Amino acid sequence: MSDCIFCKIIRGEIPSKKIYEDDETLAFYDATPQSPVHFLLIPKRHIRNIMETEAADVSLLGALLYRAQEVAKTLGCEENGARFVVNCKKDGGQTVDHLHIHVLGGRSLDWPPG
Ligand code: AMP
Ligand code: ZN
Repeated sequence: MSDCIFCKIIRGEIPSKKIYEDDETLAFYDATPQSPVHFLLIPKRHIRNIMETEAADVSLLGALLYRAQEVAKTLGCEENGARFVVNCKKDGGQTVDHLHIHVLGGRSLDWPPG
């Protein structure tokens, strides 16, 4: 999508700190980190949110989660773990309408969210 900020990152039109990429996924550091480790895992195809996925996207969703935990381990989160979050639409607190998994690690996080 031409005006989507994450699609622009995928196309290299705006800068990002990339961590991992393959044909269908990209991981990059969040610009406003909420913990010592905070990166995003996104599909390269523009999908607005988790609720706009289809049965045909099951393997892509699996790949996103699998890559997320793999990258988390490379960034030192294996021993203490991390939080894997998907915000969706208004009530979920989604601000960028391109599906993304947040991975937050490097500190202990509270639960439940406020
Ligand atoms: P959400 O509120 O779940 O939609 O999360 C969107 C996330 O994208 C926020 O944590 C932002 O800090 C992050 N973000 C927005 N623009 C950029 C950018 N240009 N580079 C990296 N992260 C970004
Ligand atoms: Zn997009």
